[in-house]
Amino acid sequence: MKENLLFDCNLVQEEIAWNKKLSRAHQLHILSCQSCNAIASEFSELNSLLESLDQKVPSNFVDRIMHKINDPNELHEKSRFIGIQTIFTKLFQVPAMQVGFVTASLMFALGNVYRFVLSIVIPSIA
Ligand SMILES: [Zn+2]
Repeated sequence: MKENLLFDCNLVQEEIAWNKKLSRAHQLHILSCQSCNAIASEFSELNSLLESLDQKVPSNFVDRIMHKINDPNELHEKSRFIGIQTIFTKLFQVPAMQVGFVTASLMFALGNVYRFVLSIVIPSIA
């Protein structure tokens, strides 16, 4: 009798877990069995939580995504951006440009130092 009851509990809890339609006998069993009742209420809570999280996906969602992917204008925008990126990357790789950038930033830094020294020597400039 006890083994039979245990078997019933496993079966009922499995049905609860799979969200299957419970027979009248199993429904009555849940009401009388503490462990099955606990499982049932846990899954019920879980289901309502999942339902509250479930965002409705618009019916044309996939179409819109595919349209965006296939849209030639979108693609053009992307390829133009990549083009600009590539140009800058190549510019920074040219040694003459690297020397130019370093020289420009060095001059800028020296100019700041020069102004700083001058502002100490001649306070009216600052
Ligand atoms: Zn049970």
